[in-house]
Order: sequence, then structure tokens, then C-alpha cells
Amino acid sequence: MEGLNIAMKVACDKGIFKGKKIPNNDSYVSHLFYADDALFVGEWGEENIKNLARILRCFHVASGLRVNFKKSRVLGIGVEHQEVTSLAEPLGCEPSRLPFSYLGVPMGANMKLKCHWTPVIEKFQSRLNVSLRSWKEQEGDFYGGDRSIEKKSIGYRGKRPYFQKKTLPGVWNNIAGVRGELEKIGIDLNDVISKKIGSGDDTMFWLDRWTGGNTLKTSFPDMYKLERHKHCKISDRLYDGRCNWNWKEIPTTMEQVREFHMLINGVNMFQLVAQSDRWVCNLSSDGVFHVNALRTQIDWRNMMPGEVSLKWTHEVPLKLNCFIWRAKLDRLPTARALTRRGIQLMSALCPYCELEEEDTAHALFRCPLASKVWEYVGHWCNIPHLQFQNAEKW
Ligand SMILES: [Zn+2]
Repeated sequence: MEGLNIAMKVACDKGIFKGKKIPNNDSYVSHLFYADDALFVGEWGEENIKNLARILRCFHVASGLRVNFKKSRVLGIGVEHQEVTSLAEPLGCEPSRLPFSYLGVPMGANMKLKCHWTPVIEKFQSRLNVSLRSWKEQEGDFYGGDRSIEKKSIGYRGKRPYFQKKTLPGVWNNIAGVRGELEKIGIDLNDVISKKIGSGDDTMFWLDRWTGGNTLKTSFPDMYKLERHKHCKISDRLYDGRCNWNWKEIPTTMEQVREFHMLINGVNMFQLVAQSDRWVCNLSSDGVFHVNALRTQIDWRNMMPGEVSLKWTHEVPLKLNCFIWRAKLDRLPTARALTRRGIQLMSALCPYCELEEEDTAHALFRCPLASKVWEYVGHWCNIPHLQFQNAEKW
């Protein structure tokens, strides 16, 4: 839509489309966009409407985004309805009249009348009911749906690693939803998001991952069996630089004693500080989750081994490096690539030799014109038989 916005501004500047002047003001309004809804405002006239249709067609060819004229409406203010119909028909649009509905709100109606506000109020009321209901449902899910157990269980349920629960609301639900997809390309969310321990009041000693790669339950299973309170917090076990154990029975066997010493060595150097525990993202230095940091990780892992080995040459301008990179990825706007994206061309053949369909390999290497260029480059650089078949061997 940003492309269409720019196209409309240029068209207005050049006088191709005439917007409507705002009274007592020097500015003009020509278009209003909201999401994929577009409203064009202009002077009434056959030429103006036809030019608008032409701009929309150009936008379709350039971007591949088709404007559905059948769903579009033409509306004239202070114009006979018959005239509106006669201009709307050739475009394939429906003629319309005031008041019309934009984003569910009546436009052009006399808003001093109470009856015109009724649909607006009803719409808001139904939206509010839906959000209130879904909020209540999600809250029920979060606390197990039973308010009576909420008080008992909130202590630890509210603080479990959120992304392990499938019924979570909102953004955490979305994050949990892509967990499997990320694992397929080798990104473990547990490595991306981790707990930064402050006072240890919000993190479970045995069950959360807070020191090393695993939970202490996994690393020291025998000690976990002896623990009396499995869901205890870090601050319950580490206090003032000392450990505070609460065993069902004292570790006695060789294996238990060995594990016990390893556990003490692992945790007793840990210093708690007077701030709350918080989740941090390990992909960025500031610990805040940024979508582009995760995107970079995904791109990096998705790259084929051959793509990584492109050597960036500083002796040539940056745009040449980019061009070679795009050629190797087969991302040049050749006739084949444009056709694949639904752009209609007069011919997909190479415009120079008209012997083959124009793809990257033809345009840069196989075309007789390109072969000739390579031959001259070979002479110039003193390299005999300088020929390539495709971008991979380049
Ligand atoms: Zn050619």
C-alpha cells in the first residue's frame, strides 16, 4: 500500500489525479488507506475517474496486487445518480449513494439524528462483548478454569515457563505455536529465552532452567528424589551465600553423596541480588526480544552451504557484489522470474537473440551477446576460453 500511496502523491503532483481541496485550508485530500481498505476522494469528472482506474491498473502490474473493481463503489456527492451509474459501469464498479458504510461506520448520514448512531453503538457493543468473553475464557484457561483453585495454584502456576503451555492467551500462545517450526531448523526456544536470576523468588530451584543447560531435576535426579518440596524456589534453597536443604532423608549412598557434592559445587557460588527474576532474550545484547534478531538467526540457518561461501569483494562497488549475490540466488528480474510472479510480458524470449527464454543463465552467459562480452573480457584479462554455463560455476 505504501507503493500506491507514493503513486497517488506523484499523480496528484503532476495533475493526473485531482484531489479535493479542504475548505479554509491549502491542503488537498486524495486518498485514505486503512489496512487494505482504500478510499479515493477527487473532483467529479470522467477524466479524473478514468485516470484513477489507470493508476490502479499500473499499480497492479507493478506490484501484482489486483484491485477488485467488482467490490469497489463509485459515489458522487451532489451528482445525479444516473451520471454516477454511467461512469461506474465502464470501470466494472457498482454505483453507490450516501450514506455509505466505511469500516462499519455510516458516512455521509445526518449524525444529528439518533437513529444514525444506533448501528455504531451496536457494533461497538458486540465487539466489546466478544473481547470480554474471550478475555474471560482465556483467563479461565490460564488459571485452570476453576476460580476456587486459583488462590492455591497461582503461586507456582503463574510462574511456570510460559511457552510450555499450549492454552496460553495472546502473544505467548503465538510464540508457543511456532516452537515446533523453530525446532525443525535447530532453534530451541529454551536457548533463545532464558531466566535472568535476581532474588530467586520467581524461579523454581529444581524445575526451571537457570544454571547450566538443563534443569537441576535432570542433572541431579537422585537429589531431586530426596527433595521434600519439589516446587521450591531458588531463594528457598540459597540464602545469604549458604544452602538451605530440606531432604526427606539424608544422602547416604555413594552415588547420592557424589551427586550431592556436585550439586553444592554447582550452586553455592551463585549470588542472588535484590531485583526480580526476569526473562531475557539471548539473541540481542540488551536482552530485549527483537523480531529482526530471530529473523537473522532463521535466515542464517536456512541458507544453503553454497550460499554462505560467496566472497564479498571490496575492489568493486557494493552494487556489483549485490548483483552477483542476487544472480547466484537466481533473484534477478529476468523474463522467466517476472512471468513466475504473474507479470504479463509481450514475450519471455531474450530481447537480444530471441533464441531462448530469458533466465539468469541465458542473460549472463548463454546468450550469444553475453558470450561475446565474456570473450572480450577474456582477451582483455589475458584469460583464454573464459566461458561459464551458469551462475553457480561463475
Ligand atoms: Zn539472448
